[in-house]
Formats: sequence, structure tokens, C-alpha cells
Amino acid sequence: MAGNRTFTMIKPEAVAKGYAGKILDHIITGGFKVIAMKFTHLTLQQAQAFYAVHKERPFYVELTEYMSESPIVVIALEKDNAVADFRTLVGSTDPNEANEGTIRKRFAESKAKNAVHGSDSDENAAVEIKFHFKDNEIFA
Ligand code: ADP
Ligand code: MG
Repeated sequence: MAGNRTFTMIKPEAVAKGYAGKILDHIITGGFKVIAMKFTHLTLQQAQAFYAVHKERPFYVELTEYMSESPIVVIALEKDNAVADFRTLVGSTDPNEANEGTIRKRFAESKAKNAVHGSDSDENAAVEIKFHFKDNEIFA
């Protein structure tokens, strides 16, 4: 069904600080169903491929080096209106601008190291889930 899936990553600094469990609880309490999940460590090449859409942005090198520096948790999620509702749950890119009670307000340390990723469209959610998971790793 279109529109009911999104993709997230618990980013390197959040995993390293031991926040993965609390972030996962926040996501599940927020009404999302985990349909696929794994612990992984992206190579620089994988991070560059995942964020190819940001290739021309000034922070691309910093972003791809950071996202490949240590392990992350990658998760596919299901919920009605998943993409938009998850971005609301996550909050603004910069934690200083994020609403109270959002994941980034609670756990992000900076605009760059902002705890989690959230897909920005149904189309990109599908691409991002496919990037990380085979069909037989998804339990919908
Ligand atoms: P979002 O993750 O909120 O969708 P973007 O897609 O604009 O944000 O950016 C992707 C990621 O790149 C952000 O989550 C953050 O980790 C990083 N980033 C964004 N803007 C900056 C910036 N100005 N400086 C450093 N890193 C940034
Ligand atoms: Mg984005």
C-alpha cells in the first residue's frame, strides 16, 4: 500500500551514546510498526551512495564521513501517513529548532549529528528501504 512505509537510521553518535533502545521505544510508542531492522556499519562508499541526492551540498563530505564512522541501526517502519508522521515525530534538522518531545529535541547533539534519519517522500522511502533490505528481510 502506497504511503504507509518510511525508513529511518539511528545515526552513529546516537548508537555510540547508547540511545538506540530509547529511540526505538520513542518510535514504537509513536505508533510505528517495525517491519525490518538491523545493525550495520556503512562503508564510505555506501554512505556516499545513500546520500547521493546531497552530493552538491556543502556538508556532503562531512555527512558521508560521519555516517560511516561507526555502526548505525537501520529500520523500516509502517504506519498510516508514515513519511509525514515520522518527520513530525523526529523534529527539525537542527535540534535547536526541534519541538519539545521530538526525537531530535531529546537526543540530537547538533544539526549534523542529529540522532536519526527520516525519509522525505514515499518514493525515497521505497528506495531507501530497498537500499538496506532484501524482500525476505521485511516482515510486514
Ligand atoms: P533531514 O535529515 O532533516 O531530512 P537534510 O535532508 O537536509 O535533513 O540533510 C541530511 C542530513 O545532513 C541531516 O540530517 C544532517 O545530518 C546533515 N546536515 C544537514 N544540514 C547540515 C549542515 N548545514 N551542516 C552539517 N550537516 C548537515
Ligand atoms: Mg532529508
